[in-house]
Amino acid sequence: MKSKIFRTTLSVTMITLLVCMGFVITLVYSFFENNYTVELKNEAQYIASSIEVYGAEYIENVDFGDLRVSYIKKDGTVLFDSRADVATMENHRDREEFEEAIKTGYGDSARLSQTLSEKTYYIARLLPTGDVIRVSDTRHSELALVSRLVMNIVIAMLLSVVLSIVFSRRLARMVVKPINEINLSEPQKAEVYEELTPLLEKITKQNRLINEQMELLIKEREEFSSITSNMSEGFIVIDMGTNILSSNTAATELLSGKKSIGEGSVYNLNRQEAFIKCVDASLSGKHENVVLCEKGRFIRVLASPVYDTGHVIGALLILMDVTEREGRDVLRREFTANVSHELKTPLTSISAAAEMILGGMVKDEDIKSFSEKIYCEAQRLISLVNDIIKLSKLDEGGSVIEFEEHSAKQLTEDTVKVLYPLAEAKNITIHREIDDFKLNCIKPLYEEIVYNLMDNAIKYTPEGGNVKISLKHTNDNVILTVEDNGIGISISEQERVFERFYRGDKSHNGKVSGTGLGLSIVKHAVILHKGTIKLESEEGKGSRFIVVI
Ligand code: ADP
Repeated sequence: MKSKIFRTTLSVTMITLLVCMGFVITLVYSFFENNYTVELKNEAQYIASSIEVYGAEYIENVDFGDLRVSYIKKDGTVLFDSRADVATMENHRDREEFEEAIKTGYGDSARLSQTLSEKTYYIARLLPTGDVIRVSDTRHSELALVSRLVMNIVIAMLLSVVLSIVFSRRLARMVVKPINEINLSEPQKAEVYEELTPLLEKITKQNRLINEQMELLIKEREEFSSITSNMSEGFIVIDMGTNILSSNTAATELLSGKKSIGEGSVYNLNRQEAFIKCVDASLSGKHENVVLCEKGRFIRVLASPVYDTGHVIGALLILMDVTEREGRDVLRREFTANVSHELKTPLTSISAAAEMILGGMVKDEDIKSFSEKIYCEAQRLISLVNDIIKLSKLDEGGSVIEFEEHSAKQLTEDTVKVLYPLAEAKNITIHREIDDFKLNCIKPLYEEIVYNLMDNAIKYTPEGGNVKISLKHTNDNVILTVEDNGIGISISEQERVFERFYRGDKSHNGKVSGTGLGLSIVKHAVILHKGTIKLESEEGKGSRFIVVI
């Protein structure tokens, strides 16, 4: 804008200057020309009057200086010329000023020299005799005048150009400065040209509109991102080139385990063949559904094509962590298989023993031991079924969650007492360090924890061993510790003892009865008390279970 103002001002100035110069030169020239013609006229009049008074001879004796005076007869013959030899002069009959003077009494004309540098003015007057007196003088022509002034004109032009440049620049700056200083976020406060007021009002309106729309956009974006960032499900929108257009953190976390949102292709997040096939299928217009196993987690990917005017323009991927569900399915399958197996074994023994008795294959004296076997297996079945019922109740969760305050000492000792006969039978000493305080717990579950840990400690400690139970109340926690100096648990087994139906090799070999569900029940009960359970054990030396509630 600045340069445009500058250029326009400069060219307008230059054009004006040239026009003015031409005009002034013409004006001055014509002014002097007029004056000059008037002077010549007066001269002609004066000479004509003198001839009338003194006769034609008068002119022959007068020195006319620069003036050229000619006396022309009525037929055009030049009788006298103050400059030239009349004998060499041609007839002036057809001269413009002569013709006019003959006709009207007065005639004038001006003729340029061949070089155009000089101009001769002629004034002719008709004398009473019918002859014509002509006065003429030669001056520089307009062209000669201009060419003589050319140097001055050039200097003046250059000076004008310089001045024009300086002033045009300053003018351009002056015009543009207040416009530049307009604060476009608050144009109504600008004090600029009145002509700009409608524009500024329009900008103010536009600003208001833009601000409102921006606020709405930001609000919508914030709402959208707060919804999506709090979603546990991941979502990714991709274009036809598999580039991520939009995604939430859950998506990147689920697909790649990273926190930051990825850029570029969605394949940068995961390159599993199943995932690539799923994305490709959705981009070709199919709805796909696949479960990926990523770093021990199961991720379900639902991929759907995104259409625009009937064409697929990308895809939407929804990702869900289905590890728990998948894990539960696996557990359920294992549990069903284990339950069937665990139930089948005692039932087969019972059935075989009963069949033998029925078939009369058992001697009378052996019937007692067979009945004992049937009884033992039945007891095993009962305790197995009881444990399964307990576990499924724990799995359901809700029905047993009832916290109540109890005397910690009373509750714990009452539970341990039940196991005294078992310990006595193996000559095991039970040590107790039980603080007395109010314990907020779910009574049947707390009893299960104490019972199962103490039962295991007695079961897996050889005769004459020691089992110790301690219950402490610290500032924040209740710590229950059950330790023994029994067979201990190997490091590899320590990870597995809390699994359902897991029974250690040693316990099987030692023919210790059990269902493999005791520690699973303990673990569940501890979780429902929002606590943790830790196992410290060394094979052959003993075990320590520490429950922190
Ligand atoms: P079980 O009915 O076999 O006792 P649990 O779930 O209670 O089932 O225990 C799982 C396994 O953990 C047992 O079979 C045993 O091998 C091991 N175990 C549990 N407690 C002890 C302990 N105090 N000392 C040694 N081994 C133990």
